[in-house]
Amino acid sequence: MKASASFIIPPAHPHAAYAEQREEIDAAVHRVLERGRYILGPEVEAFEREFASWLGASHAVGVANGTDAVELALRSLGVGAGDEVIAPAHTASATIAAIEHAGAIPVLVDIEHGTCGLDPGKLSDTIRSRAHGRLKAVVVVHLYGHPASMGPILDAARAAGLPVVEDCAQAHGARWGGTMVGTFGTVAAFSFYPTKNLGALGDGGAIATNDASIAARVRMLREYGWAQRYSSDEPGLNSRLDEVQAAILRAKLTRLEASNARRRAIAGDYTAALQSVGASGVVVADGAIHAFHQYAVCHPRRDEWRAALLRRGVGSAILYPSPIHHQPAYATRVPRGYGGLETSEAVCREVLCLPVYPQLSSEQVQLVAHAAAETWRSA
Ligand SMILES: *Cc1c(COP(=O)(O)O)cnc(C)c1O
Repeated sequence: MKASASFIIPPAHPHAAYAEQREEIDAAVHRVLERGRYILGPEVEAFEREFASWLGASHAVGVANGTDAVELALRSLGVGAGDEVIAPAHTASATIAAIEHAGAIPVLVDIEHGTCGLDPGKLSDTIRSRAHGRLKAVVVVHLYGHPASMGPILDAARAAGLPVVEDCAQAHGARWGGTMVGTFGTVAAFSFYPTKNLGALGDGGAIATNDASIAARVRMLREYGWAQRYSSDEPGLNSRLDEVQAAILRAKLTRLEASNARRRAIAGDYTAALQSVGASGVVVADGAIHAFHQYAVCHPRRDEWRAALLRRGVGSAILYPSPIHHQPAYATRVPRGYGGLETSEAVCREVLCLPVYPQLSSEQVQLVAHAAAETWRSA
């Protein structure tokens, strides 16, 4: 059977998540429209409370998007012009853009194969090699939804007195050793871009922290640095979350744990199918709970495999085709940490993300699993 374009299973499908909660979401939007408060009102306040409580953090502050969340997290720690911030070389370019928006210089460190998060050994070596006082923070990314190796990463950062910012844009609900990702570091950043595990129907983001002074500072910074209306205590920006998105996020939050469980079940089917043909599939570290924002698996002939999948009606995505230091905006400028960036480069060459969103039907999941297993060897 030849799959025509309209039968291709897309790698992401945010409309399906809307359709699943259509009545609830329509009612939430209507409630906001009729109330007449559209920016930073009761829905944002309620969402911040509910999100913080779900996460197990003392404070959450809604902002305009995930990139701003990383920037504001850094600025709330006092990171600014000329400071250096360590970040992984394989991440969304948003992570790096946010560091530069804060005025700082990103220093790229390699990822490790298992978690696709910062390599703790190369992190320690980089911290040691840059002991000139300009290093001010470490940004950890829980890429694809797998938690980074937080134990050794926190040890290395704490030994040097560096705060850790967790970029949780792909990891809402991931855990390690029972601890929720986003509560390990000093402050965490979340994105609610529509395809994320917790997605709005527009842009949105948040920071989370147990430190009241950091939360208060982000509240000021997100609205012109206002301590009180019309009086700026420090130069801020406009990074507000709107009421419509907050109301939608409140509805979506009630399903987050269930939809993450569904993602894990789908991922389990893919891994079983891939293992049946001798491929390892996605390996989850002992003690880790993967949020499966992506089912990201490496194949040595990735592009051939991708084409074979497409012929079987399976769409896929490449997150991300090149590491930060190979992208034109950063290649010639951005400093690299200690120990090389080979793993970041290898993963970018080989990674392919299969559709894993919770609204896939059982038939679609079986189709993807069979297609992945059957094309693995021939590709
Ligand atoms: C999506 C994403 C961001 C940026 O979030 P936006 O809401 O798109 O600004 C930052 N970091 C990572 C790892 C992401 O996946």
